[in-house]
Amino acid sequence: DMRNHIIDRVEKEVTEWAKDWTQEIRYLKKMEQYRREFIDNVSHELKTPIFNMQGYLYTLADGGLEDEMIRDKYLQRAIDNVERIAEIVQELNQISKFESSAVELEMQPFDIQELAQEVVESMEISAEKKQIDLRFKDTAKKPYIVQADREMIRQVLVNLVSNSIKYGRPKGHTLIGFYDLDQNVLIEISDTGKGIAQEHLPRLFERFYRVDKGRSRHEGGTGLGLSIVKHIVEAHQQTINVRSRLGVGSTFGFTLAKYKG
Ligand code: ADP
Repeated sequence: DMRNHIIDRVEKEVTEWAKDWTQEIRYLKKMEQYRREFIDNVSHELKTPIFNMQGYLYTLADGGLEDEMIRDKYLQRAIDNVERIAEIVQELNQISKFESSAVELEMQPFDIQELAQEVVESMEISAEKKQIDLRFKDTAKKPYIVQADREMIRQVLVNLVSNSIKYGRPKGHTLIGFYDLDQNVLIEISDTGKGIAQEHLPRLFERFYRVDKGRSRHEGGTGLGLSIVKHIVEAHQQTINVRSRLGVGSTFGFTLAKYKG
């Protein structure tokens, strides 16, 4: 009887271990798959500009330098492609820093509406090109002083506002609103753009995720912008979310802690 009891217990333990290990293996396999997908994405993303640049440089080396028109045009294209590579590498570097928690925030109090005003001014030219009206929602005009890393929050705003222009309908508008949430401030960027289908929303903040692959690439995106935005907001222990209606527009909202002076 005693023996049976012991055998029973051992059997139970072994079954538990097996279950744990199966889970562990499943998890490792999943990570391995993510890793593979990531490398796949990176090389895919870099391939196009590298091959383009190669083509322009070979043509230049192969007599293209003698013709002034070709020389200037192809040099500029080679430069454009190098810049795109640099942008991708720099963004990847930033993401990898966030993922290894090697990012130090420089927290300081600042006026978030003032920063948003600066960002809007820096983007007015690209907005005008699409005749998109960039403006602030007139919620309570009081100053909101937040405690955050100003330069990183600038990047969040730049990415969200530039997306609202990039994916916005020509002659539409982008509205930036600020809302008092007691301890926090909610900042919302809404556009009257093409919107995003519900099925894409859960994956939107993943690196390299794009709703419309061909078109976004043509528009020059890397698919890394929103991933960086999410990393920055989460490094501040805050949240970001999105709601959207296809054909109507999207609203991205994130929170920041108010400065308690
Ligand atoms: P990208 O560099 O491609 O713009 P992001 O990470 O900034 O990369 O965005 C990921 C994808 O989410 C975009 O390719 C686009 O399909 C979609 N997206 C982002 N912002 C908007 C928006 N305001 N309206 C519609 N789609 C958007």
